[in-house]
Amino acid sequence: MIIAIDGTLASGKGTIARRLSELFGLPHMDTGRLYRATGVAALNADADLTDADAVATIASKLDPAAFTEGELRTAEAGLAASKVAALPAVRAALLELQRKFANQTGGAILDGRDIGTVVCPGADVKLWVDASVEVRAQRRHAELKAAGDTITLTELTAQLRERDERDRTRKDAPMIAAADAILIDTSDLSIDAAVDKARAAVETATARSD
Ligand code: C5P
Repeated sequence: MIIAIDGTLASGKGTIARRLSELFGLPHMDTGRLYRATGVAALNADADLTDADAVATIASKLDPAAFTEGELRTAEAGLAASKVAALPAVRAALLELQRKFANQTGGAILDGRDIGTVVCPGADVKLWVDASVEVRAQRRHAELKAAGDTITLTELTAQLRERDERDRTRKDAPMIAAADAILIDTSDLSIDAAVDKARAAVETATARSD
């Protein structure tokens, strides 16, 4: 079974993906991590983040395990990720890795922006997770603050809008809900309630295919 979970930044899709991974015993890939690692590697190499050839070469040689969560979870890494993710050559360089993970025996869960539309259009279950900009900014701000980041809520809200806009309007694999995705709005939901909804959607899909 392949479960595709897409949605906006800090919507809760990563948490839902990790919890479903435990519940259903399926391996999970956070595909945003690949774009973050590419962005950080490009920054470390002093590459121009708009130079498609240079960044795609970095993406094709990427070892995602070589990066710590600390360096990948900063606001700067997120911004760099959304810039390099707009380059078609970078997306192409990371596609194979994601499809291979998705097609392993027994299935997998992948979360990102284009899993249900581009990476795994034939996924058994597709979820689209979203929440209001205000709620998402507050959630991410609390996480970054806890990690020692001094970014203000106002700055972060502006960055979040900028990243959403870039993700939604890029020509290649824009962030959009697949036509057959089940929508989960987590604005007013606790984590447990959001996970319950996601689990119910997976169980319904599994029952249908039995
Ligand atoms: O989900 P996360 O915030 O870690 O993703 C970082 C960035 O990577 C996103 O803003 C988006 O630009 C990009 N991304 C993407 N496609 C994916 C996953 C992430 O373009 N499947």
